Amino acid sequence: MSSLTKNTLAGLREILTRGDASSVEITQDYLAEISARRDLNTFITVTQDDALVSAKVADQIRAAGQASLTTGLPIAHKDLFCTKGILTSCGSKMLSNFISPYDAEVVSKCKNAGFVMLGKLNMDEFAMGSSNETSYFGPVKNPWSPTHVPGGSSGGSAAAVAARLTPLATATDTGGSIRQPAAFTGTSGLKPTYGRVSRFGMIAFASSLDQGGLIAQTAEDLAIGMQIISGHDNKDSTSALIEVPNYESLLNDSIRGLTIGLPEEFFDSRLDTRMQSQIEEVIRIFTSLGANTVSVSLTHVAEAIPAYYVIAPAEASSNLSRFDGVRFGYRAEKPIDLTDLYECSRGEGFGSEVKRRILIGTYALSEGYFDAYYKKAQQIRRLIKQDFDRAFSLCDLLLSPTTPSTAFALGEKSDDPVAMYLEDIYTIATNLAGLPGGSFQAGLIDGLPAGYQLTGPAFSEAKILNAAHKVQQVTDWHTHYPEEIRNV
Ligand code: GLN
Repeated sequence: MSSLTKNTLAGLREILTRGDASSVEITQDYLAEISARRDLNTFITVTQDDALVSAKVADQIRAAGQASLTTGLPIAHKDLFCTKGILTSCGSKMLSNFISPYDAEVVSKCKNAGFVMLGKLNMDEFAMGSSNETSYFGPVKNPWSPTHVPGGSSGGSAAAVAARLTPLATATDTGGSIRQPAAFTGTSGLKPTYGRVSRFGMIAFASSLDQGGLIAQTAEDLAIGMQIISGHDNKDSTSALIEVPNYESLLNDSIRGLTIGLPEEFFDSRLDTRMQSQIEEVIRIFTSLGANTVSVSLTHVAEAIPAYYVIAPAEASSNLSRFDGVRFGYRAEKPIDLTDLYECSRGEGFGSEVKRRILIGTYALSEGYFDAYYKKAQQIRRLIKQDFDRAFSLCDLLLSPTTPSTAFALGEKSDDPVAMYLEDIYTIATNLAGLPGGSFQAGLIDGLPAGYQLTGPAFSEAKILNAAHKVQQVTDWHTHYPEEIRNV
């Protein structure tokens, strides 16, 4: 591995500022690593030529004294962010030929900030999954153990950061898809508050839950990235008109006196004992830094998965109706009539998990069942939101494991959708309540990473990053990467 690609985003920024390496050199090293680690299947598209051109432009801007803080830094985007002129597949056969005519807002913000895009990252089909095994482009391997999954749906983003194939990756989280893969790969991931980051140009799965965010090595790197991608966007009607704080400067606040709530429902007997002891270690570190802990209750959290698996498929069934073989992407060959065109294009273009969601969602929304399922699920959603409101009247942030255990083996849960859905028991409630949540490194268990989750009130991203940064300043969990462990 090149010495440049071992750096954090903040480290690369220093290297560029000092002039120790150019953006072209950094980009070349990442492209070489990406090609050396094809076995991980993290990238669907590598935009090699465009990356080198943008890096060259970034170096010229720097030479002219006009560089911003992020000019020339590498990034890769999850393949559900539309990228103009470049394949945007959403991990699906349905969009396996879709060249987007425009950039997602997140992508244009990164471009305008001078980021160099290395390519597009693998993901579960239409972001439905927890293992990256539903991708039309094949599963992603966990860099810590190629027989294990990297988590999903942002498995490509997390694995690429863990393997040091990019210092920063965009990702999305509808029910845990940033936090769970971050936990499985020993990376840091932030799912912002609903509305903090524009959804314009993010291919929709469940619009009331989807949120774009980031995966990186550290909380500090997430702060650098959040500064660029956050903010109001007229093109997204759910985008929040709330000022963006200076995330990086807030990293240095003291956390003395911070109250951390421990939701009792998340520390029950189902939690793996070794995971529990890793989390207890994190709690000890927080306490040693001056934080207090308090036990809180999220009474309705057990209902979060059932409610999510009504709401998310219902919204997906509506969102995915646009893929009809006429307007976008895959079209079946030689249909006999229009109905046959729709049926064959959708039948052949979608994978089985996507079809399962469309069927469940269509059923839940159908006349006679709407009140029993969709309306009920929305009522549960409100109760969950109230649980969080009550908890945040007693504490500043909530701390829990991100996942019940470490990464599972490839194929272990792919035939059991319910076991797969239970992967998100600690993450899904956050999305139902629209809150921000992050997952950060909590050491290794039998050579596989563990993660702890911080959840905060709406728009408390700075507080989450500040708390995680303080822990990262006194631990070295975030500095480990799979290659290093293998080389020992
Ligand atoms: N694993 C969950 C699902 O399959 C969440 C996915 C996500 O957050 N995009 O729906």
